[in-house]
Amino acid sequence: MTTATRFAPSPTGFLHLGNARQAVVNWLMARHEGGRFILRIDDTDRARSDVLYVDGIREDLAWLGLDWDALEHQSARIPHYEAAFETLAARGRVYPCYETPEELEARREARLKRGLPPVYDGAAKKLRAEERDAFEAEGRVPHWRFALEAAEISFDDKIAGPRRFLVRNLGDPVVRRADGSFTYLFASAVDDIELGISDVIRGQDHLSNTPLQIELTQALDRPVPVFAHLPLILDAGGEKFSKRLGSLSLRSMRQEGIDPHAVILVLAALGTATAAEAGTPVDDLVRGFDLGAYGNAAARLDVQDIRRLTVQRLQQLDAERIGMMLGHEVEPALWRAVSANIERLEDVEDWRRTLMEPIDPMLEDGDYSERAAALLPEDLQDYDGWIAALKRDTGRKGKALFHPLRLALTGRDHGPELRVLLPLIGRDRAIRRLRGERA
Ligand code: GLU
Repeated sequence: MTTATRFAPSPTGFLHLGNARQAVVNWLMARHEGGRFILRIDDTDRARSDVLYVDGIREDLAWLGLDWDALEHQSARIPHYEAAFETLAARGRVYPCYETPEELEARREARLKRGLPPVYDGAAKKLRAEERDAFEAEGRVPHWRFALEAAEISFDDKIAGPRRFLVRNLGDPVVRRADGSFTYLFASAVDDIELGISDVIRGQDHLSNTPLQIELTQALDRPVPVFAHLPLILDAGGEKFSKRLGSLSLRSMRQEGIDPHAVILVLAALGTATAAEAGTPVDDLVRGFDLGAYGNAAARLDVQDIRRLTVQRLQQLDAERIGMMLGHEVEPALWRAVSANIERLEDVEDWRRTLMEPIDPMLEDGDYSERAAALLPEDLQDYDGWIAALKRDTGRKGKALFHPLRLALTGRDHGPELRVLLPLIGRDRAIRRLRGERA
């Protein structure tokens, strides 16, 4: 079987770092194996799905640079689910259930009281034809459950390790609702079969669905894919990540000026023993991908790491590249001067304006900066000479010497060394700023 993986988001919101990680790992796996990567939109829940989010998911994946070989929508695949359902029905593997939600709840509670797992007890499987007819005559519309047969289901999870589930603790799952719609559990298993998915890599929150989907697949006489469940992500503080998802959407990262490549690097490394390195090209990630490198412990993700990496990656570029990214030319001298002091790409432009367009200087001590203006040498390269003269003349040193100059010259209280900024500001402008004029 050739490798095929899938990323199957539900279009009920924008992508965030948690689901993007699954996209990254599935994409890397497919590309590493020379296989296929399928984007599957899980939009069977019509009420919660929104095309706005479908477009958003596509845009965000494209921003990350993850391409897909096929795009599928579950909403367009209903005939496939019908056909698989008919096959199961012909094999006697699905049965109609007439319980109302209240009846199910009462039974659940009764089982809990008796110390039994609160799962469906299979009662409807034993209904005789007359009993079914009686329910139908009452106007009850059935939902349908899949009849599990095996006593236990085990599989070797490629991340979580060997897993064994006792079927009596699972209960027959609903595959079709009373309104005729199919559940995610069923639709997903049918899709994985029919789209030829060889490796299902997803979050650990789906681990308990896996035994059910395995038996569904077997009941349809199809080969069972390999499963790998990625552990939970925690934020830097060790909290469950999902609490702050809004601020961690790819969309907000894009707006913030975060480098998508930095996102890929951090997400690919998350949960492995390897640290993300700013200089690693995607091709290297693809070549070196190893699903076995992902551990089974919850992984901590600090968004600051992505920001840091973004900066490191920018700093490795030359002025020409930075100019292309900003959409206008950037002088090499400017880039050299400020590159170590930026946190985002936009900071380059802020510094250009600070240095080359009029600003209001901040005067801490007018007499002192007036003196500094008077002593400013013709040749701005002679910065050391200027500072030495100021020291001699005023007796100042350290912060008292430098800080008022920085405030007057840049209007900011920190930044790159004045030595490199001064030639960019220029002599006339520097003198005017030191005199407290807007310049
Ligand atoms: N739509 C499901 C989710 O977003 C997909 C789970 C799966 O990968 O099977 O959780």
